[in-house]
Amino acid sequence: MCTQCGACCAAPDIAALDKPLGVPCSFLTAECLCSRYETRPTVCRDYQPDALCDYVQAPTLHERVKRYLEYFGLEAEAQRVATLGIVSFKDARRLPLAKT
Ligand code: SF4
Ligand code: SF4
Repeated sequence: MCTQCGACCAAPDIAALDKPLGVPCSFLTAECLCSRYETRPTVCRDYQPDALCDYVQAPTLHERVKRYLEYFGLEAEAQRVATLGIVSFKDARRLPLAKT
């Protein structure tokens, strides 16, 4: 069941919205609601709640995003995107692969 926690609108990268990892969607309100719900893209319409929703639950959106990124092993990549000040999915995808 969706608790409208906002994690799936903030943690993943979303090509249709040119949204990089870990950056809240520009349409996500302070109340974690979608400000363009009626016209949201197909990828958002098709998204279904699953077990991950329970896993990411935490008191703040910041913590929920952190848990989401940790689950997929994407914290370092999200940190790299944030450090470089990248706010575009396309720009993030153009970055050279991080050294491991
Ligand atoms: S992560 Fe799950 S519970 Fe949170 S808003 Fe998305 S679908 Fe709903
Ligand atoms: S458009 Fe709406 S549903 Fe889609 S990621 Fe942004 S806030 Fe979430």
